[in-house]
Amino acid sequence: MLFLNFFSAMKEHNVIIVGGGISGLSLAYYCAEAGMKTALLEKNSEVGGSFASPKYSSSGRNFWLELGAHTCYSSYQNLLDIIEGCGASGTIIPRAKVPFSLMIDGQIKSIVSQLSIPELLMSAPNLFKLKKTGQSVKSYYSKIVGEHNYRDVVSHFFNAVPSQPTDDFPADMMFKSREKRKDMLKNYTFSDGLQGVAFAIAARRGISVFPGMDVQNIRFENGKYLIKTAGGDEFIASILALAMPSASASALLRDLNPDIANHLGQLKAATVDSVGVIVRKEHVSLKPVAAIISPGDVFFSAVSRDTVPDETFRGFAFHFRPGLDEKIKRERITSVLGVSFSKIEHTVSRINTVPSLRMNHAQWLDKTNTMLKDKKNLLLTGNYFGGMAIEDCVIRSKSECERLKG
Ligand SMILES: Cc1cc2nc3c(=O)[nH]c(=O)nc-3n(C[C@H](O)[C@H](O)[C@H](O)COP(=O)(O)OP(=O)(O)OC[C@H]3O[C@@H](n4cnc5c(N)ncnc54)[C@H](O)[C@@H]3O)c2cc1C
Repeated sequence: MLFLNFFSAMKEHNVIIVGGGISGLSLAYYCAEAGMKTALLEKNSEVGGSFASPKYSSSGRNFWLELGAHTCYSSYQNLLDIIEGCGASGTIIPRAKVPFSLMIDGQIKSIVSQLSIPELLMSAPNLFKLKKTGQSVKSYYSKIVGEHNYRDVVSHFFNAVPSQPTDDFPADMMFKSREKRKDMLKNYTFSDGLQGVAFAIAARRGISVFPGMDVQNIRFENGKYLIKTAGGDEFIASILALAMPSASASALLRDLNPDIANHLGQLKAATVDSVGVIVRKEHVSLKPVAAIISPGDVFFSAVSRDTVPDETFRGFAFHFRPGLDEKIKRERITSVLGVSFSKIEHTVSRINTVPSLRMNHAQWLDKTNTMLKDKKNLLLTGNYFGGMAIEDCVIRSKSECERLKG
């Protein structure tokens, strides 16, 4: 009797998902669609994770800036199905066509101006001969664009995608070709930024969202998971899903399932120190850009909001290498933008985590799926399975929900 009272005091659900980024949210969507009572626990005060579009208001003008993901494509078919399912298709907006640019010796340059065209023409036929499978990004792409073009230009664009060196990434895990939806814009964003999608999914019926829940401990007793947060809240569910970076998932599984915890612990990830700044338009003379990439710099990219032009403000998210002191970041931001610090009207920051994928990843993934095969009450999703693109996260969540139902 005492035992029953203990459980009834807790919040019980069929499925509890820990982590409220797009992986956890898409899994919550699929589970709720399948009729399961689904709860999502998120450490931060808002859902979104790397869908982070903080808002800024001043003198009656509203603005938002992406501190993480910024672009979706017509090939993100599963994401688009979810957006439609949530009635959020009307929030899709086009991105203005502004260039991705290089910064060389303090000057903005076009990518084409920095490429050796003869080397490109000599190497291009390899595109039809070589396969990506079994090749690293460096070995494959230095043959496709030429060694110097790869080293001096192209590699810096690749590094900007996951904000870390990508030479050793598997070539077939970057820029996957997927079937496109013909009725969709090739690339697009959303009227309130990508975090608007996170909010739309979180508001879906059948999903209970609990923000501010930093899950610290999970036990398995009498066929149920008991989930405890840093603040002392407790939840109970028959099915547990972890939708967080691999190292955090590994730590939570240490006592529950040491084999899977060790396996997850083998993966590496990079932290990205993302700093967003908002400036009045008249203070920045820089021509509109989608992003600035400065080879060998302390930041991997400075992603701009010029893709959704605003009458009053411009915004830039600098994705820095981790561990820099504030002064270095501040100096770099002001010198790239050509503004004094006093002209920066608003600053916002966040730490993102992105996987560091390696050549044996396909084998690692096969082993993961084998280990999970007979564990229907444990689901794992995130950006470190089939790839780190948004659509890869959604595909993983969909297949984990199918495994649960099947
Ligand atoms: C700067 C940047 C730009 C990108 N741009 C693009 C792009 O344009 N297009 C694209 O397709 N992809 C892009 N990506 C990749 C893509 O956005 C991410 O891979 C994806 O959003 C990751 O989602 P996720 O849910 O797996 O992880 P996250 O978004 O990291 O979410 C994990 C969540 O788990 C929560 N959490 C962690 N530990 C706990 C705990 N103990 N208790 C409770 N909650 C916890 C975290 O707070 C977080 O909210 C970008 C990534 C970054 C970092």
